[in-house]
Amino acid sequence: NDVFARKITGGELGAFVFYAIIVGSAAGSISEVISELQRAAGALERIVELLYAKNEIREVDDAATLVISPVSASIRFEDVTFHYPSRRETPAIRHFTLSIEAGKTMALVGPSGAGKSTLFDLLMRFYEPETGSIHIAGQDLRSLTLQSLRQQIAFVSQTPTLFHGTIAQNIAYGRPEATEHELIEAAKAAHAHEFIQRLPNAYQTHLGDLGLGLSGGQKQRLAIARALLVDAPVLLLDEATSALDAESEHLVQQALEHLMKDRTTLVIAHRLATVRNVDRIVVMDQGQVVEMGSHEDLMRNSGLYQRFARLQFNAAAAPLSDSNHSEVPGSL
Ligand code: ATP
Repeated sequence: NDVFARKITGGELGAFVFYAIIVGSAAGSISEVISELQRAAGALERIVELLYAKNEIREVDDAATLVISPVSASIRFEDVTFHYPSRRETPAIRHFTLSIEAGKTMALVGPSGAGKSTLFDLLMRFYEPETGSIHIAGQDLRSLTLQSLRQQIAFVSQTPTLFHGTIAQNIAYGRPEATEHELIEAAKAAHAHEFIQRLPNAYQTHLGDLGLGLSGGQKQRLAIARALLVDAPVLLLDEATSALDAESEHLVQQALEHLMKDRTTLVIAHRLATVRNVDRIVVMDQGQVVEMGSHEDLMRNSGLYQRFARLQFNAAAAPLSDSNHSEVPGSL
């Protein structure tokens, strides 16, 4: 009407519509920017949370460097209680006390969720116990530098992490400066040398090129070779639950025996051969020690271990109540 009334010109109206569109679309962009900013703020909050989480484990100002030899590498958990931060209601470890003598092997067994892996997390100080203390070679973990602590511990997980690279790089992961001779010696002791030599480029074979070419047993032996090369006085071993064929089983077992020799070893045991060979077995349930002893002792107790062993290590464990133990096969 104003145009007709000649209050504004047609051009001015056009300009108004044009500006109105620009302002409108700018407002739309601003709201988009605001929602982007909100998302970014959310992400930043998460990053800050993660950074903060990482900083929870703090070194004391005068943290000492842990230097231990196999003869001094004893481990002691003293009345340790621990809750995972995300599960405040149930403790993963409760009033846990345990000593492992230097150079000895102790097997941990128990139902899923008993807290076996949590002990490893605490020993490598990924988490801090709320009460109690943990000592290695008589030194409180809290008094040590994280780097020196973790350098003294070799951890072999159930599912070895192999990365894209050559076999040699994968074995040398924990000690890249190792000589070729040391690397091959480690592979030999882990019974990995024979199969590596049969690969197209032996130690220079790219794992990526092999795809799924390695068997479960071969991967485990590579992980064992890696741990042998690191040569740490403390070994944390989470045995693989996956079934291996008899030959592979035998080779892995022999490789593990090499690895455990003269080291203080805590092993989460899944195999009969292991529990039969170790110095002591600790049976855990709900974050506590419920039984302790040799395989034979514990099988006689008819407690949790006996039931557990029959299930976990299958019927082969059953005839142990008979006097003739030698009939029990050494490996499953
Ligand atoms: P499995 O044989 O199944 O590995 P486990 O004996 O090693 O069992 P842990 O993994 O130590 O048991 O778990 C102990 C308890 O802590 C369980 O109740 C488990 O659910 C809980 N837990 C383990 N890891 C975490 C985590 N990262 N955050 C919260 N709770 C956890």
